[in-house]
Amino acid sequence: ESITVADLARKMNLKASELIAKLMGMGVMVTINGQIDSDTATILADEYNCTVNVVSLYDETVIETVADRPEDLLPRTPIVTIMGHVDHGKTKTLDAIRSADVVSKEAGGITQHIGAYQVTLPNGQQITFLDTPGHEAFSAMRERGASVTDIVVLVVSGTEGVMPQTREAIRQAQEAKAPIIVAVNKMDLQDASMEKIQQQLAEFELTPESWGGSTIFVPISALTGMGIDLLLESILLQAEVMELKTNPHCAAEGHVIEARIDPGRGIAATVLLSRGTLNVGDAFVAGIYHGKIRAMYNDKGQRIKSATPAQPVEITGFSEGTPKAGDPFQVTKDEAFARQIASKRQELHKMEGAKNIKKVSLANFMESISELDQKELRLIIKGDVQGSVEALKQSLEKLSTQEIRLTVLSAAAGAIVEQDVKSAATSDAIIIGFHVRPTPKAQLLADQEKVEIRKYNLIYEVIEDITLAIEGLLSPEL
Ligand code: GDP
Repeated sequence: ESITVADLARKMNLKASELIAKLMGMGVMVTINGQIDSDTATILADEYNCTVNVVSLYDETVIETVADRPEDLLPRTPIVTIMGHVDHGKTKTLDAIRSADVVSKEAGGITQHIGAYQVTLPNGQQITFLDTPGHEAFSAMRERGASVTDIVVLVVSGTEGVMPQTREAIRQAQEAKAPIIVAVNKMDLQDASMEKIQQQLAEFELTPESWGGSTIFVPISALTGMGIDLLLESILLQAEVMELKTNPHCAAEGHVIEARIDPGRGIAATVLLSRGTLNVGDAFVAGIYHGKIRAMYNDKGQRIKSATPAQPVEITGFSEGTPKAGDPFQVTKDEAFARQIASKRQELHKMEGAKNIKKVSLANFMESISELDQKELRLIIKGDVQGSVEALKQSLEKLSTQEIRLTVLSAAAGAIVEQDVKSAATSDAIIIGFHVRPTPKAQLLADQEKVEIRKYNLIYEVIEDITLAIEGLLSPEL
């Protein structure tokens, strides 16, 4: 953390020139707009009997919320994500569930695809579904620390069984600690087998009650609608066990589910609240952007004035910028505060972005030379035996072209160690490992320093990649 001399002087109610003189006395040469670090600021402030409170920029981006009292908590609608292997029937299942909604039948609103919808069952109970099926949305949210989903419905085709994306979905749901309900789909087909699916899923600790487990399995046909009612009942049963509760009466907060630029309305985002009530006119921060709710729409496209937890709502009124799926959404006391928080977050975002600036990699080499002002590709070679390392070095150096010079900074036998990574980081080089790997410590450092390590077993593969890189044609390594 740092502060400019001018800002510090203002805060200490002193002339900047006086601080500059004092700093010179301490051997620190700075101009009025120069930055000094928090340690220096603390020592300096000490001289004037002032104390320095170091507040990280991150802390300044956090909006304090009031804790709930137990009596504030009321039951809330569960939020469900449907996952499963491609073509096992996620979209069809979402459609079948949507048509079970009694409210849309009555109200005649036109269903809008806003990223989530809510169904109301004949008995009045409600369930919210995220209607971006698949794992991408789920992972995108999880990556941003948002766990929006209470329950995962895993759709498995009763004819095809467990497939790679089925396993991936199970892993993700388990990591997110979201209970899984298995919907065995396509049960209208002759060769569909519930038993087979149960056997396959036992491996993942998903076993039905009849086998002594606790996972709910529901046979369905998304095509005919068979079993959809039972699936919805099972979701409600699971939700009841979870005792989902929230405070609906505080300042609203939740997450962005989806955001887009609407030709007519400008930036529109779908938000799911985890607590509080959202009203038209509320000032808010969503991710690094802010705004003031201009209009709200429900999933039937109807204009509404307020929204409650787990009710999908599309909002407009962003002052600039489109938030991302998974971004935290919070109402603030006024617009000025929302703006202040958003601008601090943008500052932090920029700083973090700067930290992540990629160093040279083979794949981005041609792009980065213009930025780095370096028409030279530098390599550090490590190999299993000195002979092959030498041979590789000579072959690679021959690849230099008129535009790009290829320089091998060092070529030696042995594993890739921390020192190699350090050299690569300071000289913007790439490490080529020929039949050797980095030590765990070296790998860790490489990840931190964003130093690229490429591993090869065949000389011609190295030559091919480097040639492509020089031509700017190499795609990033997976
Ligand atoms: P997704 O990729 O998981 O979203 O799968 P879809 O919902 O798009 O369905 C993939 C294919 O399976 C489509 O051709 C559907 O018509 C078909 N399908 C989905 N559910 C059923 C079902 O219950 N029975 C049968 N016979 N076909 C189904």
